[in-house]
Amino acid sequence: MATAALSFHHLSSPPAASEASGGAPPLKLSTAGTPPLKLPGGVCRRSGGVAAAAVKRSGFLTTIDRAIEEEEYRRARAEVQRKGVDVEGHLIEGISMSGHETCVVVPSLNAAFDIGRCPAKAVHQDFLFITHGHLDHIGGLPMYVATRGLYSLKPPTVFVPPCIKEDVEKLLDVHRAMSQDELKLDLVPLDVGETYEIRNDLVVRPFRTNHTIPSQGYVVYSVRNKLKKQYAHLKGTQIRKLKLSGAEITDVILYPEVAFTGDTTSDFILEPRNSDALRAKILITEATFLDDECNVEHARRHGHMHLSEIMEYAQWFRNKAILLTNFSSRYKIEDIREAVSKLQPKVSAKVTALTEGFRSTYT
Ligand SMILES: [Zn+2]
Repeated sequence: MATAALSFHHLSSPPAASEASGGAPPLKLSTAGTPPLKLPGGVCRRSGGVAAAAVKRSGFLTTIDRAIEEEEYRRARAEVQRKGVDVEGHLIEGISMSGHETCVVVPSLNAAFDIGRCPAKAVHQDFLFITHGHLDHIGGLPMYVATRGLYSLKPPTVFVPPCIKEDVEKLLDVHRAMSQDELKLDLVPLDVGETYEIRNDLVVRPFRTNHTIPSQGYVVYSVRNKLKKQYAHLKGTQIRKLKLSGAEITDVILYPEVAFTGDTTSDFILEPRNSDALRAKILITEATFLDDECNVEHARRHGHMHLSEIMEYAQWFRNKAILLTNFSSRYKIEDIREAVSKLQPKVSAKVTALTEGFRSTYT
């Protein structure tokens, strides 16, 4: 088993020379959060321990230890290579760190929410939804448009709050003048409450959020046809006959699939017109602050949410899953995971944190 390239971050000494053979560069792994391995007899052992490494170097690895090492290697490698999180059947990728960069990509919707500094994966999404004009959310826009042009991808459709449309046009004009590039896009100012069809089975509507500057979130709905209630008692042949006669037998139902808030205070939760965001299958929202040092008041003052507010308003969330983003860069992956694990029992939705790009205690 070629465990040679494996370098567990929490080993106190570097791997022995014999372990670094094989030519491959050492793979730095974070195993934080990896569940303990179960040994026969129900005994648990934390993966990659120093003791195991010492035994390994001594050349006295037992068969079972070897099997465990291989399992650790597979798990740890999968953890490192995995990009994004699987949330309710959608593989969601992105990077979101308050003040630095926020871009959340949902390839199944062909969409990116905010563009951050334009991560590579976002370039391939045809639709971009911008929540507000802060640079950590919109800074990569010219690069997004330019890179799509470079790859000969079709001009993207970029949705913005109407109040920033003119400024976005000016910004792109400046880049057009400087780069002598066309920077083709379809720029759509979409206001709260308006609806736009992005696919024949998908529509989007912005909703109101509360930040230090004008902002809005977006709900993406799937469009479904449902048999009208008055025909529910009919048999298949009768329904077919009705349909052939030209009668309208279905109602169009909009089902909220994914909601994205961008930066906001918790006030958006209490806005009655935002109920679709709170019942979307997946809510992607923010929890910039986690601890007492930066409390709820601090979060509100800066137009953000504190994790404790999600607990406070837990009863309002009807979502199947909540993906938390925009954590402050003061926190480490372990701080975020620990804080979120305390939240989980209070909220019925499955809560996941987007921690891509954050530092670990072990790195
Ligand atoms: Zn902001």
